[in-house]
Amino acid sequence: MSKIAMITGGTGGIGLATAKELGQAGYEIIINGIHEDQAKAALEELKALNIKAECFLFDVTDEEAVIEGFKKISAKYEKLDVLVNNAGGLGGRSRFEDMETSFYRKVMALNLDSAFFNTRAAIPMLKKGEKASIVNFTSIAGWNSGGPGAGVYGTAKAAVTTLTRALAKDLAEYGIRVNAVSPGTIDTAFHQQIKETNIDVFNSWKNNILLKRLGEASEVASVIGFLVSEKASFITGEIVQINGGQDFL
Ligand code: NAD
Repeated sequence: MSKIAMITGGTGGIGLATAKELGQAGYEIIINGIHEDQAKAALEELKALNIKAECFLFDVTDEEAVIEGFKKISAKYEKLDVLVNNAGGLGGRSRFEDMETSFYRKVMALNLDSAFFNTRAAIPMLKKGEKASIVNFTSIAGWNSGGPGAGVYGTAKAAVTTLTRALAKDLAEYGIRVNAVSPGTIDTAFHQQIKETNIDVFNSWKNNILLKRLGEASEVASVIGFLVSEKASFITGEIVQINGGQDFL
């Protein structure tokens, strides 16, 4: 039976790069997303690489939608070998003094609740998997608390670090490993707004990175490929920094 990997938010950015990485390593791919047009384009890219893939559209911040989504997935697939909780994002920027509670909740939901909802729903399927593992997404913002207005994003990502370690403890008895990647600045649509509104600021970011460039989505995906593989069979509860030496100068 083929190995099966599910990647939330896998219709673009690092998620799609991860789908390609794992697909080329022989996994059958399940991606999730919220935009039908993005899903269609992502599935076409994967098909062109001879990767067997399917998309389930649901909002990872909506508890009921996640439960329903996993009902559909488990009706079709017997097991999962890999879950990548990739979906996440800034959700906008706001300083604390003026922050609406709804904004706070939205950013926490996108980055933290989503990892909880999807992991909880996936555990029964992962238990049936072969040497199954989970990869969560924290961020350099979870360590340095993020740039201007990204404080809640950083807070949510820091919580993902502890969630990852707690899940590693909780799931070890089933042989399920749980790790996280912590990217620095990676050139994806995540930064679309600043690219459009202040390209000079965007271009200056590389000056704070030892390697003097931003990262590529594939450079995060390749680490995920390693973490879910047998080569990482003794790694659990670990957070891997992928940032080219950012905040290091
Ligand atoms: P991206 O914006 O390019 O892609 C995010 C993907 O998630 C998109 O395909 C989008 O459709 C999907 N998505 C968004 N909201 C969703 C929802 N509610 N339900 C389901 N899918 C949803 O971002 P990216 O750069 O690929 O980021 C991937 C992960 O990496 C995120 O968790 C992000 O916080 C983290 N990260 C990114 C960077 C960076 O610099 N790009 C740095 C650190 C961490």
